[in-house]
Amino acid sequence: GATIGILGGGQLGRMLSVAAARLGFRCHIYEPAPQPPAGDVAHRVTTAPYDDTAALHAFAESVDVITYEFENIPTAALDLLEALRPIRPNRRALAISQDRQSEKSFLQELGLRTAPFAAVDDAEGLQAALSGIGTPAILKTRRLGYDGKGQARIMDRDQAAAALEAMAGAPAILEGFVRFSHEVSVIAARGLGGDVACFDPGENVHREGILHTTTVPARLTAAQRTDAILLAAQILNALDYVGVMGVELFVTDQGLVVNEIAPRVHNSGHWTQNGCAVDQFEQHIRAVAGWPLADGSRHSDVEMLNLIGDDIARLPDLARAPATAIHLYGKGEARPGRKMGHVNRIIRPAAR
Ligand code: ATP
Ligand code: MG
Ligand code: MG
Repeated sequence: GATIGILGGGQLGRMLSVAAARLGFRCHIYEPAPQPPAGDVAHRVTTAPYDDTAALHAFAESVDVITYEFENIPTAALDLLEALRPIRPNRRALAISQDRQSEKSFLQELGLRTAPFAAVDDAEGLQAALSGIGTPAILKTRRLGYDGKGQARIMDRDQAAAALEAMAGAPAILEGFVRFSHEVSVIAARGLGGDVACFDPGENVHREGILHTTTVPARLTAAQRTDAILLAAQILNALDYVGVMGVELFVTDQGLVVNEIAPRVHNSGHWTQNGCAVDQFEQHIRAVAGWPLADGSRHSDVEMLNLIGDDIARLPDLARAPATAIHLYGKGEARPGRKMGHVNRIIRPAAR
C-alpha cells in the first residue's frame, strides 16, 4: 500500500492517520515535538526539527505524497520536500494562508468580501491604519496566530499603543470590526481532477477566542447557504486546490464576509465524523490520494463540543449522555486552552 506523509502530529494528524488506515494507507508523521498525538496511531513518526535536511529528505523518500495538518511550515523545508514528492494542498494555498495580509488580498481579488484591513509595521503605520479603518478594530499578527492568540482589540484610539505592544514586534494587520450576527464555516474539498464537494455549513460559537461548539445545520437562508458553498468552491478552484479546506465566514446583513481560510482539515469540521457517511478526514485522504470524493451529504443534525483544558473532567457525564460520540486526542496533561478532545452529539436525523 501507499504511504502518506503528514507534516504535523497533532490531533488533526491523528484523525487523518486513522482515516488513512481505514483506506489501507500507511501514514508517516513528521513532527518536531516528542510524543505527538498522531504518534499513537500512525505507522511511523519522525521526530526532528524542520531545519533537519537529512530527516526531511528521508521522510520524503519514504512516502508517496505529502500533506499537512498545520500551515506554518517553514518555506525552506517545503522547498526541499516539494523537489522530492508532491505536496497537496499546493504551495500557493499554503503561502497565501500563512499570512493574513496575502490571504485577505487574495480573497478581495476574487471579489469576495473581507473585513477592511491594512498592514501595520509600526506605531505610525497603526495610526494611519486607524485613520482609514476607524474603531473598533482588531490588530492581529500577520503570521502564526491561532485560537485568537496574537490579537488585540482596539475599541478606542488610546488603546493603540498597548495593542501594538501585544504584537511583540511582529508584522501585524489591522482589521475593521465586522458586525456579524453569527459565524459559520464551510468545509470544502477539491479532488485531483478538479471536482468540488462541500459539507453543509456549520455554525460556530467561540469562547475566549477558541472554538467552543459547531452546530449543523447553521442558521442560514437557502440563498446564504448557496452563497457560502459557491464562494468556497470559488476559492478552491482559484487555488487549483487538492484536499480539504476550512472557510470561516461572518454572517452579516450585507452578506457573507470571509474571515479566514485554513488549508487543511478544520476543527469546525469535526462534526462530520458522526454526521456524514464520509467525514472530512477521509475526504482529505481521498483527495490527496487522487481518489474520488464523497459528496459531502449529511445524515444527521449534530452538535460538536470541544473539550478544552479542564472540560475533560466532564467526560464521565458525557460518556453517559445519549447519542454522543467521544473523540479524545491522547494528550497527557490538561492545560488551560489545550484541546483535549471533542464530542459529537447527534441531535436528530437531518431533514430531507
Ligand atoms: P483560528 O483558531 O480559527 O485559526 P485565529 O486565531 O486565526 O483563529 P480569527 O479567526 O482571526 O483567529 O479570529 C478569532 C475570532 O475572533 C473569530 O472567529 C471572530 O469571532 C473574532 N474576530 C476575528 N476577526 C474579527 C473581525 N475583523 N471582526 C469581528 N470579529 C472578529
Ligand atoms: Mg486562524
Ligand atoms: Mg479563525
